[in-house]
Amino acid sequence: MKQKQFACYECDTLITITSINEGEVASCPRCHHHILDKKYDSINRTLAISGTGLLLFIPATFFPLMSMQLLSVESSASLMSGISALWQTELYLVATLVFAFCALAPLIKLTTAFLVCFGFKHNRHQHPIYKQLLLFYHHVDSWEMLEVFLIGILVSIIKLKDMADLSFNLGLLCFSALMLCVLSLKITLDKQMIWDDLNYER
Ligand SMILES: [Zn+2]
Repeated sequence: MKQKQFACYECDTLITITSINEGEVASCPRCHHHILDKKYDSINRTLAISGTGLLLFIPATFFPLMSMQLLSVESSASLMSGISALWQTELYLVATLVFAFCALAPLIKLTTAFLVCFGFKHNRHQHPIYKQLLLFYHHVDSWEMLEVFLIGILVSIIKLKDMADLSFNLGLLCFSALMLCVLSLKITLDKQMIWDDLNYER
């Protein structure tokens, strides 16, 4: 049976955990802080969510998010056209940050989560590349700000709604669904379980 020692993040108590079942949580006996939780059907759920996110990525970034009609002039913008407009107005740093946090980081997270789980499901994860992919995912994990971007869009909608006729486009729906997929990875992907398995395979 696999045995592993964990130090509680809160009170530093050393705890030996033999095995826990899917959906169960291991807590510290002294302070009841959650040490480990084994996510339910992690591989299949992560594959479904990351696959859906990857399918949504192109419409979410290239389809218009919303249209605005002001004095009979209609204009619409997608995430990519917005980044391009920022670049053309010489706001290079802002354009780069929006691209990195709102497009590149989600794409990297979805792709690495999908590849790791695909390899795991088909028993091909013995290759060292999967360890590198999981480490890469872990580093990029805190690197996305989709929520902030969506809140920015909502604030501009509220500010603009009295000045112009606004209509929402398919891109905004795809972008919101993409955001949900990326956020759901935090709930479904069991990094600890995959990491343990990769190490025991060595
Ligand atoms: Zn504790």
